[in-house]
Amino acid sequence: MSRLWSQGVENLHPYTPGEQPRRRGLLKLNTNESPYPPSPLALRAMSEVTGDDLRRYPDPESTALRQSLAGYHGIDAGQVFVGNGSDEVLGFAFRAFFSGKSKLCFPDVSYSFYPVWAQLFDIPTCILPVSDSYEIPFDDVPSGVGGIIFPNPNAPTGIAAPLAQIERLLSRFPNVVVIVDEAYVDYGADSAIRLINEFNNLLIVRTMSKSRGFAGLRVGYALGHEALIEGLVRVKDSFNSYPLDAFAQVGALASVQDEEYFQRTVIAVIEARELLTRGLVDLGFEVLPSSANFVFARNLSKTGLEWQQRLRDHSILVRHFEKPRLNDWLRITVGTSDEVRQLLRTLALL
Ligand code: PMP
Repeated sequence: MSRLWSQGVENLHPYTPGEQPRRRGLLKLNTNESPYPPSPLALRAMSEVTGDDLRRYPDPESTALRQSLAGYHGIDAGQVFVGNGSDEVLGFAFRAFFSGKSKLCFPDVSYSFYPVWAQLFDIPTCILPVSDSYEIPFDDVPSGVGGIIFPNPNAPTGIAAPLAQIERLLSRFPNVVVIVDEAYVDYGADSAIRLINEFNNLLIVRTMSKSRGFAGLRVGYALGHEALIEGLVRVKDSFNSYPLDAFAQVGALASVQDEEYFQRTVIAVIEARELLTRGLVDLGFEVLPSSANFVFARNLSKTGLEWQQRLRDHSILVRHFEKPRLNDWLRITVGTSDEVRQLLRTLALL
């Protein structure tokens, strides 16, 4: 506690990110990064950034990148917002659409940053308990909420929701913003993109940190009706007008243009996920059906914390959440198939 802090800072509960270890040689399966680097075309484009490019401020609107993303998704550039990682985009969205309103609803088992932004922006919340099989009960969202947010596929479960349920939710709540956080959608869930021209209350948030191997670059984006995008721009321009640096703008754009590499690396992760799932089941784990680049698994012969610590002793990092309903579980990022085999061999010894 510092007497110099502004009011309220003392009571914040900041998000705890997964560990980024300094020690080399660990098998890092704890923060859902891609096991593959970004497209070589993206790396080359970034290496061609000149001193003159860096002497100047970057394009505050990331025009070329937004146009490229719009073309890729078959929408207009006015329906695209880009930010410094999807965490920043989500933070802006909380401020733009939810603060000062009635309750924001999200599942009890979902991205643990949502309650943090809600607290930061003084947004009251309504928590929706997931079912015994960890599915989001969309039909139980109470009427009168001021907004809804959930990841699809959900994190940390990996479970994807059918698009028909999302469509029903959007129709039921036409006067509040519904955010679908599609951080992991490329690994097998149905995207809600085809609903954005039909529902002006839908905002989709995406990231280049996972399927495009760019967690270190920090690029995320949102897709939605022009009026929603304008709301995000108003918040951005009241906070930081140049969120994407010159490297991020050219690297992200080149990544979008390399569809062949994108598809190849995503498919490799999906195949390794199937290998991981089968191997875990053979070792007596219960594994939730994952459409993401991680699996959520438990084996009640040890607690989640014990599994995590034992794996750490063998230089393998996985994520564990010490929270009610989650503390038996491990969230394991899908690596290359060789990394998956290394993990399975180690688990078999424990
Ligand atoms: N949404 C979800 C569901 C996530 O798991 C993450 C990764 N922590 C993010 C958003 C944020 O990703 P980034 O800021 O790297 O785009």
